[in-house]
Amino acid sequence: MRRTAHPHGPEDRQVPRRKAEFEYGDREIARGCEGADVVELQVRLAGFRGTLPDGDFGPGTERQVMTFQRDYMKLRSPTGIVGRSTMLAIDRFAEAYPIDFAKIRCSCGRCNGFGTGQFKDRYLAGKPRTEAFYRYEYPGVHRLLLWAVRAARFYMGPGGFSITSGYRCSFDNADHGRSTTNHHGKAIDVVFAPRAGGKPRNAGADCDAARGRIVETADAQIGWGARNRKALEPSDIAPTWVHYDVRCYESKYLGDEMFCTTLEQLDNRRAIRFSTPKTGSRVKKTPARR
Ligand SMILES: [Zn+2]
Ligand SMILES: [Zn+2]
Repeated sequence: MRRTAHPHGPEDRQVPRRKAEFEYGDREIARGCEGADVVELQVRLAGFRGTLPDGDFGPGTERQVMTFQRDYMKLRSPTGIVGRSTMLAIDRFAEAYPIDFAKIRCSCGRCNGFGTGQFKDRYLAGKPRTEAFYRYEYPGVHRLLLWAVRAARFYMGPGGFSITSGYRCSFDNADHGRSTTNHHGKAIDVVFAPRAGGKPRNAGADCDAARGRIVETADAQIGWGARNRKALEPSDIAPTWVHYDVRCYESKYLGDEMFCTTLEQLDNRRAIRFSTPKTGSRVKKTPARR
């Protein structure tokens, strides 16, 4: 589905491509690996630079891993290889930066906290058929976005952090006269308070600083110009908060399975089921295909 080019002759096409069936934790993963476990890794490291959650471990994913190893694990020589120690460090990162789902549930009192799944394939009247105007109530909040929020908390350092707005379903939007559908699971609004010990500053300046840091550390964009990039609302729209969203992603990265409603689903903690070999072929020798 991802790739149509085939390196061999037509006879090879008769052989079905072996489907990667690895789940996160089944094996060490590194450049050249493909599969569901790579998607999971790309989601978990979404705020460390960040790449597409496409299941293909190319240079962009390697950069995510090396950034995490350098910045979070404090490794002097990042390897780009995700073995046991890196997986365990990702677990520690998740534990250190939990997400309070009570704060991101819709407060309308009429849905179950994450919409009612209505308006599949429906767009706002008179608007382009793009995610910005898509009315569908996604079944939770996008996991990649929440993992990216965790990384933003890490990079902002110790200090206050609060989620000011999470899921806002159609009922909630109607109650408040809003026309935007971004908060149907694709956006989170947060506030990063001044760092502990710091002087209280201007909220606008704090938000500008936070946006700058997120652009720098997570490869996010301000505004919605580029496809498949995490996006931040510009300061004229969000003067005293930081709005972070995934509405620029193509619909194939916005499948229902990417959305979660609990911390357990977000963490999706898996046991590690391999041991790292001491010597020999640590890295799969498949050439990078990006
Ligand atoms: Zn609601
Ligand atoms: Zn917002």
